[in-house]
Amino acid sequence: MHAAVNSGRIIPVYILDDINSRPWQIGAASRWWLHHSLQALNRSLNDQLLVLQGDALTLLPELAATLKAKAVYWNRCYEPWRIQRDRLLKERLTQQGVACHSSNASLLWEPWHIAKQDGTPYQVFTAYYRRGCLQAPPPGQPLVAPAQLPFYSLPADTNALPGSALQGSPGIDALRLLPSIPWDTEMRQTWQIGEQAAQASLNEFLCNGLDSYRLGRNFPAQARVSRLSPYLHFGEISPRQVWHAALGESSIRGLEQDLDCFLSELGWREFSYYLLYHKPDLPSVNIQRKFNHFPWRDHSPDLQAWQQGQTGFPLVDAGMRELWQTGYMHNRVRMVAASFLVKNLHLPWQQGARWFWDCLVDADLASNSASWQWVAGCGADAAPYFRIFNPLTQSEKFDSTGSYIRRFVPELAALPDNYLHKPLQAPAAVLHQAGIRPGQDYPYPIVDLQQSRAQALTAFRKLREPAGQALT
Ligand code: FAD
Repeated sequence: MHAAVNSGRIIPVYILDDINSRPWQIGAASRWWLHHSLQALNRSLNDQLLVLQGDALTLLPELAATLKAKAVYWNRCYEPWRIQRDRLLKERLTQQGVACHSSNASLLWEPWHIAKQDGTPYQVFTAYYRRGCLQAPPPGQPLVAPAQLPFYSLPADTNALPGSALQGSPGIDALRLLPSIPWDTEMRQTWQIGEQAAQASLNEFLCNGLDSYRLGRNFPAQARVSRLSPYLHFGEISPRQVWHAALGESSIRGLEQDLDCFLSELGWREFSYYLLYHKPDLPSVNIQRKFNHFPWRDHSPDLQAWQQGQTGFPLVDAGMRELWQTGYMHNRVRMVAASFLVKNLHLPWQQGARWFWDCLVDADLASNSASWQWVAGCGADAAPYFRIFNPLTQSEKFDSTGSYIRRFVPELAALPDNYLHKPLQAPAAVLHQAGIRPGQDYPYPIVDLQQSRAQALTAFRKLREPAGQALT
């Protein structure tokens, strides 16, 4: 925006491109977010946002030709389909005499700037972040918003424009991003969307979350995490703004350990993009190919029970219902629910990643794919395969008083704390008093934890890296 404004009059354009993004078209919850995000953006652009839908590869060159644009400016995105599309776009626009300028607004370090001494990419997070990123030039200071936006006036007849271009709110409504049946009630109550809301969330976190982040971030019932992920994903706040604001706050209040931990989480976001950039098949293919031979099950009833939060394991169910109701799940619970799917139900991580893709408001191809591979044990620098989160002990440790479970699994709310984590082990009288009929009001556990864990470990132990396909 800065570069464009400095060069002359501008037309801000958004294209919903469901064609080049296949098979990773934006999921349902993210579409909901996108609708409100575009509305907020449009308001801050004095209702001047031009909205189109279709193949950006043809629409943008046509638009540039119709309007006789001299240049097109965009921020780089790093999903493999976007890299490919934007490369082609640049070729086409350049051929028709339109200058192209791209900038980095969504990462702290460009993936191609960070490499080992021998020039190859890092495989391990700690080395990537501590030796690669933190030794590289630090992230630049964020720019302030331009004082004025010199808009170019579009022709009154938008029919002259390509596609079904429309300006302002009518254009955003025409994208039909909102659900036709209202499953978004809880989401509307949970989130404020847009740049101002992003800044407010950052400030709230800096005042009330950062000083106990390192430990507090593990407890899903506590408001100790920033919840900035959807704002970061949609570019409503930039990682540079978050990075420098956190550094500034910490230098005033001396919060080195919490700051280091928080910044390193932003580092995980960078690492996810780094992996996606260097391994474009990260969203679908096991980085460690030996995992291709794991005897994954194909079992839709178990997948459905997991998706619906009906597994009989309260922490997993609470997380899956938080996801469904709010479009978000706390990181600790994401790890537990994902581990349960892969290592207890033995379902392929890709099926879990797909569900998250559709349900998360922060669904992000890089972070989602890298995190699923990490939990499954098949990613770069992944959790070792023998690290299997036990949903019972995780629940007792990180939700000991059951506030999180009681909120999202209300049918268990009347149980005493000590039975909340394993409800159907409660004596019949306790269950009766809490109004729970086993198997009716709350499901029996769908899997035996010890047995399924042992089976996973045996199968993982048998895996061998196929010759010539080891992680490079
Ligand atoms: P905070 O703890 O406040 O962290 C600050 C920021 O750091 C986050 O907003 C996020 O941008 C980044 N971050 C934190 N943890 C991670 C991580 N492990 N990996 C990458 N970035 C991280 N995150 C997404 O943004 N989109 C996803 O689609 C996504 N899918 C995930 C799937 C699984 C199975 C798991 C285990 C994790 C996934 N994560 C994903 C990472 C993480 O859970 C979320 O980024 C985090 O919970 C967001 O909440 P927050 O903003 O309060 O995080």
